[in-house]
Amino acid sequence: MIIGNVDKDEKRKKFTLEIICSNCKAKVPGRMQTSEKYYGTTSFIKEVAYFKRNYLCGRCRDKKRIAKKRSPTKTTLDK
Ligand SMILES: [Zn+2]
Repeated sequence: MIIGNVDKDEKRKKFTLEIICSNCKAKVPGRMQTSEKYYGTTSFIKEVAYFKRNYLCGRCRDKKRIAKKRSPTKTTLDK
């Protein structure tokens, strides 16, 4: 997963982040990357915090996607 914008010729900084799913609280080890010059900046820290707050694990993301797809048709078809 990449934080911020990394140009393809830019040096990358790799780091691990312990992310917790904001829905089921499952711990997910996040292997993250960012550009070397972005790492540690204020906007980087803010972006990481935002990312962590809104993170959904793969399973919850799938559930959310399915729920989104179903709900509009369900309301019109249900009697
Ligand atoms: Zn989850």
